[in-house]
Amino acid sequence: MTGIFGKVKPCAECNLVLLGAMGCGKSALTVKFLTKRFISEYDPYLEDIYSSDELVDQQPVTVRVMDTCDQEGPVNCERYLSWANAFLVVYSINSMESFKGCQLYLQTLSIHKNTFSSQTPIILVGNKLDMDRYRQVSQSDGEAVATRFDCSFFEVSACWDFLSVQHIFHEAVRRAKRS
Ligand code: GDP
Ligand code: MG
Repeated sequence: MTGIFGKVKPCAECNLVLLGAMGCGKSALTVKFLTKRFISEYDPYLEDIYSSDELVDQQPVTVRVMDTCDQEGPVNCERYLSWANAFLVVYSINSMESFKGCQLYLQTLSIHKNTFSSQTPIILVGNKLDMDRYRQVSQSDGEAVATRFDCSFFEVSACWDFLSVQHIFHEAVRRAKRS
């Protein structure tokens, strides 16, 4: 294909994997990113890969999102370790248990660093920011863990505005491109 500036680059691709304890909101974030809508009840046992053509910094990119469902924490990681170009590790700010759960994923990723490129970016996401009244995990706790595991860190809510959810997915794509 040619454009006014010569050859148009073929569409880039980027594979994102969402990890985290059950109930932290991985599917709600995925659905929000894909449809701009918050779906409050989503099959908790469904794991799937979705695809969306996105423009990130005016560059077309096909983003594939693997919305994982591990009932027993980080086991059987092979399916995503070498597939991923970036990881979004999610917990909910109103659940200390989910915060502990997400650290198991971060530890697992750091143990398997050799399986995937050690450059593969990891983004730590504190979800359910709308539940601030019931917060169990402080922002500084999130930041400390992000620093320890060399991740970027965002707090977000799957039921609030679409743009802040889109931002973390696009940020994952940007970081994957740079890695
Ligand atoms: P998953 O197991 O990580 O995929 O979690 P789900 O996306 O299925 O969400 C689990 C529950 O948390 C559902 O009842 C969702 O409606 C709810 N939930 C997800 N994200 C949010 C959020 O940002 N705020 C609130 N208040 N509830 C959320
Ligand atoms: Mg789910």
